[in-house]
Amino acid sequence: MKSLTGTARPDGSDASVLAAIGVEYCVASYVDMHGVSKTKMTPITHHAQMMAGSEMFTGAALDGVPQAVSDDEVCSMPDPASCNILPWEPTIAWYASDLHYQGAPFEACSRTILKRQLARAAALGYKFNFGIEAEFFVLKDTPDGGYAPLSDRQHLAKPAYDLSRLLDNFAWIKELVAAMDQLGFDVYSFDHEDGIGQFEIDFNYADGLTMADRYVFFRMMANEIARKHGGFASFMPKPYADRAGSGAHFNMSLADLKTGENLFKDKNDPKGCGLSQLGYHFIAGVLKHLPAICAMVAPSVNSYKRLIKQGSASGFTWAPVLCCYGNNNRTNALRIPMGGGRVELRAADSSCNPYLAAAMVLSAGLEGVEQKLDPGAPNYENMYLKGPEDLAALGIQSLPGSLDEALNAFATDSMSSVVLGPSMYKAWLDYKRDEWNSFSHHVSNWERERYLKFF
Ligand code: GLU
Ligand code: MG
Repeated sequence: MKSLTGTARPDGSDASVLAAIGVEYCVASYVDMHGVSKTKMTPITHHAQMMAGSEMFTGAALDGVPQAVSDDEVCSMPDPASCNILPWEPTIAWYASDLHYQGAPFEACSRTILKRQLARAAALGYKFNFGIEAEFFVLKDTPDGGYAPLSDRQHLAKPAYDLSRLLDNFAWIKELVAAMDQLGFDVYSFDHEDGIGQFEIDFNYADGLTMADRYVFFRMMANEIARKHGGFASFMPKPYADRAGSGAHFNMSLADLKTGENLFKDKNDPKGCGLSQLGYHFIAGVLKHLPAICAMVAPSVNSYKRLIKQGSASGFTWAPVLCCYGNNNRTNALRIPMGGGRVELRAADSSCNPYLAAAMVLSAGLEGVEQKLDPGAPNYENMYLKGPEDLAALGIQSLPGSLDEALNAFATDSMSSVVLGPSMYKAWLDYKRDEWNSFSHHVSNWERERYLKFF
């Protein structure tokens, strides 16, 4: 990995180091159930107290910090190793934090929920390596109350990989990429994607916790920087019905905890995918729980408008629709990208809480490893073209078709409450059921246009 540049990642435990480089304020940031940063701002003069958990919060005020209003407050405990100086506002130092309650870790804290699965992996001798591919739109508000790509240049029918559209957006994207690199993200590629005003920025993988912290920070940072340039970054999975949606593909492998060796790599893989037996067990565990996992990796009503075959400029969505895996073949929910040594979950989208989503996926993968589950043969063909009879013969199920279906799968899979813990499980399901009901009871323009004057 490239060395960290500049002073954007100093030793977060030392206030004098921070003050010497101009930091005036600190934020011990944790996330709500959506993976959005929440915090109070602390002047650097009170850094020591903040590091000891002085910042208190009434969780009941937030989504998915399950507390009663009468409870004692939770407090945020910053992780000094996660300190980022905001590249666009270097007077502020940000820390990913765990929530604590009455002097002990709060069991429903998203970050702690992921840490529990990372500890389980570590107890088995594994380190979880994790990369998230960040896809998102950068748009602007329009006077009619709508939204449009930031660049006014004529919209192409097929904008994927277009250099001119990338150059049109270069002012904000180069600022964002530079900021990511200052923070040690190690960006290796970025492009204009298949949607109008849609981009992908790819950066190096890291350990599971660091990657989840980075994705939370990235969404916030992309938005702040886009806003400086007159737009906004949208992590809505499918903002345009006829364009590709925004995935957040999870790239995963297990490494030897002691040596760091990638244990998913096997160049003699008889299936020709470059994956080890351990990797296949991991895939089998994820496939077994995939419908329930969808609720967490694709957690919004809108997520299921992305998980379809058609509805994009290129004629296909690139998003998965089936519970299946294959070689370097994008029509599978789980793919083994070319060269092997890792597994990509393509069902994950840009609206996920990366801590909870990764916790569910890792738990399922570890179950596959512990029980030596077999995923069967990989699919090498275009799975979009398979009809119901083919799928029945192959024993392949569809992914959930709506948030409602995903929630039912989540609620009936006993792994879900074990991973989330009882209070987060309940809070999350209550909130999401409510979200689904609010959507399904709402009367849309589509319905009015179709039925109001029908008879
Ligand atoms: N945007 C696509 C999705 O929704 C993925 C495109 C790609 O494979 O990079 O998953
Ligand atoms: Mg992409």
